Amino acid sequence: DNEYYLNRQDAFESNVRSYPRKLPFAIAKAKGVWITDVEGKEYLDCLAGAGTLALGHNHDDILEALNAFLISGMPMHTLDLTTPIKDQFSEALLSILPNKGKEYCLQFCGPSGADAVEAALKLAKIATKRNTIISFTGGYHGMTHGALAVTGNNGPKEHVTNLMPGVQFFPFPHNYRCPTGMSGEKGAGILACQFQHFIEDVERGSPLPAAVILEVVQGEGGVNPAPIHWLQQIRKVTQEHGILMIVDEVQSGFGRTGRMFAFEEAGIEPDMIVMSKAIGGGLPLAILGIKKQFDAWHPGAHSGTFRGNQLAMAAGISTLNTLNKPHFLGSVMQRGHWLTGQLQALQSHYPCLAQVRGRGLMIGIEIVDEGLPSDSSGAYVGDGLLAAEIQRQCFKQGLILERGGRNGNVIRLLPPLIITQDECFEVVLRFESALERAIK
Ligand code: PMP
Repeated sequence: DNEYYLNRQDAFESNVRSYPRKLPFAIAKAKGVWITDVEGKEYLDCLAGAGTLALGHNHDDILEALNAFLISGMPMHTLDLTTPIKDQFSEALLSILPNKGKEYCLQFCGPSGADAVEAALKLAKIATKRNTIISFTGGYHGMTHGALAVTGNNGPKEHVTNLMPGVQFFPFPHNYRCPTGMSGEKGAGILACQFQHFIEDVERGSPLPAAVILEVVQGEGGVNPAPIHWLQQIRKVTQEHGILMIVDEVQSGFGRTGRMFAFEEAGIEPDMIVMSKAIGGGLPLAILGIKKQFDAWHPGAHSGTFRGNQLAMAAGISTLNTLNKPHFLGSVMQRGHWLTGQLQALQSHYPCLAQVRGRGLMIGIEIVDEGLPSDSSGAYVGDGLLAAEIQRQCFKQGLILERGGRNGNVIRLLPPLIITQDECFEVVLRFESALERAIK
């Protein structure tokens, strides 16, 4: 075990809340998909700063852009004042939105994804003069009071009183052992109809909601891609009733799914697009894309100090330049298919790998241990123990990945998008040997 980490843990145990006890190491350096710890051991990083490092660690282009910026004499932080970097970044960002962003405007929100979620919720209420928000089970939108209120997982809400009121949850269509019992395209169709009836019922009795907020591919919720027809139906119903559709692309955006944005697969146009993580090239930045007709802020109505991170914008421009290169997104899709296929091929040898799913390089592996009980809906409830053990063994094999899902029973892979074919091969090798050890 890692000596530095253990000593440090003794020294700081009670003073520093350290992120993952499940990743007990101290990082010395990193390049591409590889992290080296202080003892010189190398790890393949399939967490990538929770998806922020689209181009991996210390990508040459990003380093060059940051170095050039640092010696340029330009200010590092400029609140929301105008700079050429901000202009270039905004232009690059608008150009990847639907119709090259002609119908959208950008609101710089602050450093973290939750900042942009909060802005979206506020603006939806202001723009529609309505009070309530619909969210979906299993969704994740952040840890602040509003973002947490629309987050589907009840765990982090425990004992947090007076979260933002007026949030109603509707079932998200899971394609595997859906808690509603409605899996697959057919189940999703039924849920979409129920959503429509639900909205029509609300309309008869009380004011309509201001917005729905959803992830096209739920990340923390266990990598659940929404069926296309369900998304299209939600878009149709929301449009018909003047309900804003807020799509949270914090994790699934910027090439992660093999498309610039995950919603593109369904051919829909959200009213608001929540963006963060990879847009700052690994540095903190969050932005809300808003359809212009809903940009109802009065001047100064929404502010925040850290909205002018020039370094994040420089790194963001560099990231977008790479994502825009011909074939780049195609190769993300291709590697994603290959990895998913290889992991699916393991399923016949390892029945605990219940489902391998995802889009592009946003991959989830649902782990079940059939000995465990079902919940009241009859859906299997993995308690996450086996998944935790697999994650632990992966770490020992030098493979870093995360877990998600209702009970932490979904292993999640979010490798840098620049991962090579050989590195994908290495991921599968390491995963399988970790799996062998975990089920022994
Ligand atoms: N939305 C989604 C879909 C996310 O995955 C996350 C972070 N995991 C957030 C919002 C919140 O972002 P942050 O942690 O930067 O506040």
